[in-house]
Amino acid sequence: MQDFINKLPKLAKDKHNESKKFFSKLKKKAPKDLDYVMQELHEDEFERTDCLTCANCCKTTGPLFTDKDIERIAKHFRQKPQQFIDQYLRIDEDNDYVLQSVPCTFLGADNYCSIYEVRPKACREFPHTDRKKFQQISNLTLKNVAMCPAAFNIVEEMKKRIKF
Ligand code: SF4
Ligand code: SF4
Repeated sequence: MQDFINKLPKLAKDKHNESKKFFSKLKKKAPKDLDYVMQELHEDEFERTDCLTCANCCKTTGPLFTDKDIERIAKHFRQKPQQFIDQYLRIDEDNDYVLQSVPCTFLGADNYCSIYEVRPKACREFPHTDRKKFQQISNLTLKNVAMCPAAFNIVEEMKKRIKF
C-alpha cells in the first residue's frame, strides 16, 4: 500500500487532464443511474482497500470540524467546546476550523482513530465517493485522487464504466 501511496501524486498528475475532461462531460450529461453506479464502485473498492493499511487522509490533510463536531468531541473529552478548540484547532483561510497540525493528533500508530465513534462528519464521509450527485464534487475529487488510493481507483473505474 505505501508504495502505491508514494506514487499517487504522480499517477494522479498523469491522469489529471483525462479525469478533468471526464468530469466536465459527467457534469453536462450524468447518467440517470449515477448514484447507483457510485454506490457499487464505492462498495467494490472498499471491499479491496482497507483504510487501516493506509490512513493517508488522516496523515496528510485532516478534516474540517463543524460546530456540531466540536460540541460532540469536546463532550467526549469532558471539555468545553472552547477548551477543545484552543487545544486542537485553528481557523484556516476559508474560515473553517481545522487541525492545528497533521498527522491528526487522534490517529494512533496502528492507524486506528482514537475518537472513531465521535469523529468529525468529514472523516465519516471521506472520500465522498458514495454520495449522491457525485458529479457536483468533481473539483474536490480531482484533489482527493492525489492523496486517497481508494478515490483514485474509483475514478479510474468510473472512466472505464461510464462512456460518453
Ligand atoms: S479514505 Fe482513502 S486516504 Fe483515507 S485511509 Fe481510506 S483509502 Fe486511505
Ligand atoms: S479524527 Fe480520526 S478519522 Fe478523522 S482525521 Fe483524525 S484520526 Fe483520522
